Amino acid sequence: MLGCVTESIQIVEVAPRDGLQADPADLSTAQKVDLIERLIAAGHCRIEAASFVNPAAVPKMADGDAVMAGVPRSSGVSYSALALNARGVQRAIAAGVDEVCGVVVASETFSQANQRATIAESVQRWRAISDAARAAGIKTAVTVSAVCGCPYEGRVDSGRVLDIVSDLADTQPDELALADTIGAGVPTQVGALFAGVAQRAPGIALRGHFHNTRNTALANIAAAIDEGVRIFDSSLGGVGGCPFAPRATGNVATEDVVYLVHGMGYDTGLDLDALIDASTWLETQLGHGVPSLVAKAGGFPH
Ligand code: MG
Repeated sequence: MLGCVTESIQIVEVAPRDGLQADPADLSTAQKVDLIERLIAAGHCRIEAASFVNPAAVPKMADGDAVMAGVPRSSGVSYSALALNARGVQRAIAAGVDEVCGVVVASETFSQANQRATIAESVQRWRAISDAARAAGIKTAVTVSAVCGCPYEGRVDSGRVLDIVSDLADTQPDELALADTIGAGVPTQVGALFAGVAQRAPGIALRGHFHNTRNTALANIAAAIDEGVRIFDSSLGGVGGCPFAPRATGNVATEDVVYLVHGMGYDTGLDLDALIDASTWLETQLGHGVPSLVAKAGGFPH
């Protein structure tokens, strides 16, 4: 109820990596660093800044080392990066990331398209990534993706999602995320999944990653909040998708999530007006509009 909740919700800003990698625009390293500085100015303290994957597969992210070399390091911001194998995690460590993120896809067909690996192989790769990151003193986070549906197989069995979660919980990541990569989920499904995950991964912080492909992202976030989830990924302006998931449109927009959770009484440490300004600037850099509704409408004083 308004004004009665004093809890915080943490937003992990994914526009510089998950957002930009699927956008038609091709931003320079300097533009990416500029974006990150604007995100920090708006209050962000967790930013997914880069990925260290095969540059031939994702050429837009080939400058991860240069981005990490250019971002401000004295501000207390935690920078995360995606790595999908042993080589990637070593590059991420060398670049000075604070947190290494891995992904295991919950459907075999999508796993092959996204990572050229079976689910079991992806879990094994994550174990190696996790071991290397821990040895380097870096935080670990792993995401199970396509948990609400697969662009190739359709329905994804929740029992399989939970079995993958159990395998990943064995590695004791600092954080475990569920991603509705293609924006297929609905709140009842999301609530049931997170309730199951909380049982399979006790004591591990849970995070939600939602796409607004079918206009259900905010409803899904509200359902996850009801299940106790307090960390969410979002992307400034709602930019991004997935280059390996046909028709997967944008990540849920940071401005829209912040408007929702601030209105519900949660604190994020983020300045909505500054986010909207940054989103307007991002449109000029991308050369096209962004899907965020709150960026268009503005905030409203609750
Ligand atoms: Mg995404």
